[in-house]
Amino acid sequence: MREGRQGLLAELERRGVTRREFIRFCGAMAAALGLPGGASAQIAGALRTAPKPTLVWLEFQDCAGNTESFLRASRPTVANLILDTISVDYHETIMAAPGTQAEEALARVVAESRGQYLAVVEGSIPLADGGVYCCIAGRTALDIAKRVCGGAAATIAVGTCATHGGIPGAAPNPTGAVGVGEAVPGLRNLINLTACPMNVENLTALIVYYLTFKQWPPLDAERRPLFAHGKLLHDACERRAHFNAGEFAEAWGDEGHCNGYCLFKMGCKGPVTFYNCPTIRWNEGTSWPVQCGHGCIGCAEPRFWDRMTPFYGHLPLTPGIGADIDRVGLAATGLVAAGFAVHGVTSYVKRAAERELPAEKSVPPPDRKGNGP
Ligand code: SF4
Ligand code: SF4
Repeated sequence: MREGRQGLLAELERRGVTRREFIRFCGAMAAALGLPGGASAQIAGALRTAPKPTLVWLEFQDCAGNTESFLRASRPTVANLILDTISVDYHETIMAAPGTQAEEALARVVAESRGQYLAVVEGSIPLADGGVYCCIAGRTALDIAKRVCGGAAATIAVGTCATHGGIPGAAPNPTGAVGVGEAVPGLRNLINLTACPMNVENLTALIVYYLTFKQWPPLDAERRPLFAHGKLLHDACERRAHFNAGEFAEAWGDEGHCNGYCLFKMGCKGPVTFYNCPTIRWNEGTSWPVQCGHGCIGCAEPRFWDRMTPFYGHLPLTPGIGADIDRVGLAATGLVAAGFAVHGVTSYVKRAAERELPAEKSVPPPDRKGNGP
C-alpha cells in the first residue's frame, strides 16, 4: 500500500466532490456493506486519511467486460472518483505505456511493493498444454498469476471467468480454463467478486471496507463477500409480490409481462442466485435486468453457463409443492416460500451441477423488441 500524499479525501476535494456528496457516499457504502448506520462516520473518518492503494489489473482469457464495468462512469460520482484515485500501476487495456515499458511497470510493483499491492484478475487461466493458450510478453497466464498474485496483499478475482473459469471454461473446455483460485491454490486473501461482469459498486464497497477496517469482509464458501452474496436475489426482487400472488408472465410481451409480473415461468433464476443485484442495480443504481423485464440468468453463481441453462427454462419445482406452478405462488407465504428457497436452491444446484435437470418448460428467448417469436 503506497502512502498517499494527502489521502483520498484531499484528492476527491481537488476533483470537486463536496462534503455533502462525500458523506452521502459513505452512507451508501455502509448500506451496501450491510453495516449499521453509525458505520458511515467510521468510513468517512477512514477515507479522509486513507493512503492510495496500489493496484495491478491482470487480464487473461476474458472479454474485458469487467474493465468496462470498472470504467463505466457516465458522470463523475464519488464512487468512480474513489476508483480513479487508486494507483492503478498496471492495466493492459487502459495504461498508456506499451510493451516493454508496461511489463517493467508490473515488475517494479511486484519487486518494490511485495505484500502491499492489490492484484485484480480478470479472465480465466488456461492450464491445458502447459498454458500456451494465453501468453503475455512470452509468459503464460499461469506463470504471471503465480508471480503477481503470489506477492500481493490480496487477490481480487473479478467476473465469472476469473472466479470460476467463465465461458472459456464451459464444457468441453478445450483450453482447460479455470479461475485464479484453482490455478494458483493457497493464495492469501483471495476474494471472488463474481457475476458476469462484476458490479463495480461491489468492487468500490470492497475497497472501502478494506480502507476503513484494514481487513477484508466476511466471505462465503465460494470466497465471495457476504455483503454482496449473502442473500437470495429473489428475496429482494420487486416482482416478489407477484410471485407470492401467483401472477406470472407467460410470454414475452403478454399482459403479465407488461404488468411487471414475476418472470419465473420465463426462466428467471432469481430463486437460486445469491447476489445483491436488486439493491445496488446497474448504471449508477438506475435499474437492473429483472426490472427491465428479463429474468435473471444466475450469472453470479459458479458455472452458471452450465448449471443455469437453458436460460429460458423455468426451475423445477420443489417436491411437495407439486407441478402446478400457479399454486406455488398462491401458496408461497411463510414456510412454503422459505421451503422453496432453501430446498429449491440446494436440490436444483446439486442436480443441475450433475447435468440431470432438463427444464420443465422452455420458452423461446425474446426478440430485440422483447417479444417472443
Ligand atoms: S422469480 Fe425472478 S422475477 Fe420472480 S420474484 Fe423471483 S427474482 Fe423476481
Ligand atoms: S439479474 Fe441475475 S443474471 Fe442479471 S446481472 Fe443480476 S445476477 Fe446477473
